[in-house]
Amino acid sequence: MMGNAEWKERGDKVFIGTYNRFPATMVRGQGCKLWDADGKEYVDFLSGIAVCSLGHSHPVVAEAVCQQAATLMHVSNLFYTVPQTELAELLTGHSFADRVFMANSGAEANEAAIKLARIHSGEGKYEIISLFGSFHGRTLATVAATGQPKFHVGFEPLPQGFVHAEFGDTASLEALIGEHTCAIMCEPLQGESGVRPLDVEYLQAIRRLCDKHGILLIFDEVQTGMGRTGTLFAYEQLGVTPDIMTVAKALGNGLPIGTMLTTENIARSLGVGTHASTFGGNPVVAAAAVATMKLMLEPDFLVNVREKGEYLVRKLVEVAARFPELATSVRGRGLLLGLVLTEKGIDSGAEIVGRLFEQGILINFAGNRVLRFIPPLIVDYDEIDFMIEKLAGVLDSLS
Ligand code: PLP
Repeated sequence: MMGNAEWKERGDKVFIGTYNRFPATMVRGQGCKLWDADGKEYVDFLSGIAVCSLGHSHPVVAEAVCQQAATLMHVSNLFYTVPQTELAELLTGHSFADRVFMANSGAEANEAAIKLARIHSGEGKYEIISLFGSFHGRTLATVAATGQPKFHVGFEPLPQGFVHAEFGDTASLEALIGEHTCAIMCEPLQGESGVRPLDVEYLQAIRRLCDKHGILLIFDEVQTGMGRTGTLFAYEQLGVTPDIMTVAKALGNGLPIGTMLTTENIARSLGVGTHASTFGGNPVVAAAAVATMKLMLEPDFLVNVREKGEYLVRKLVEVAARFPELATSVRGRGLLLGLVLTEKGIDSGAEIVGRLFEQGILINFAGNRVLRFIPPLIVDYDEIDFMIEKLAGVLDSLS
């Protein structure tokens, strides 16, 4: 049987080197646990980057996938399929939206949102304002929308029509609104750049600006959606409803799907032939998403997410208080949480993640700024305690 080292050696010979991977080849997952090719067990506080929210290989989702794969795997969007229609009904039935476009990833969902904002707003209105620190994907348009210059380097010229406002600064945002602006695009909480929630007042001010200037508000809920922040979508707890929303990551609990949602009136602007995807919302991924959504809509699922989130916050706050030279505070919503590090902590961030990995705990260092905790939403209290004990041990050894 080949172990981690052999698989890594083989992989390193054939992959284009875009990823800095942990030295583990994962072979099995169940609930919050993963096992690698050496048989080592991990407690997962990463969830495949906020994807496997019901835990790994959830039996109900796996069964739905297997059944659908054995029945009908793909026909393209030249036809209707049962799971795709059911999924669209579930999404519109539980959000502000009336209409859905299905794609295969978060970036593609955002591409669809950008195209919709432009075509709906009409000629000459093409500019999207997004925020510094945002992350919207790795396709060229979504990279251009992403407000982190490090992701732009080497890929210029980027598509035109994207500008960035200072995070948290309404005046900077309004100053950028001009005759060409069609939309403001933001994550309700910036996940990738370091778990940075946008204040409710700030988000409400953004909504008011959009209304005042007659431009669209796009919420990228790729990471914050599907229960991650304690409500099905983050916007529900913010008193702000967007015009367009994108949802991906956890929607298929591990299968690739991205969706763009909007209202009846705005959706009308994307007519036949204006946008398409061969695979988007194909029967197998849609069946996974239907099963996932139904489980998330069960009574108490979201209540539990909120309670576990509060518990994890309390535990992380205790850790921050115990190691003030390394950590300062905790931020985030629901089970999308970050332990903010001091300068000294930041210097050790990668090492902390590496040491936890060695001890069988998976977390990451978001934006090279905070330790991010995004466990499956079904994480139990013992798993939280176990992770906290290991985290405290690592921080203790560094302080
Ligand atoms: N938008 C947000 C907020 C994200 O966090 C991500 C991925 O991390 C994306 C978009 C891109 O999603 P994908 O990697 O599925 O294209």
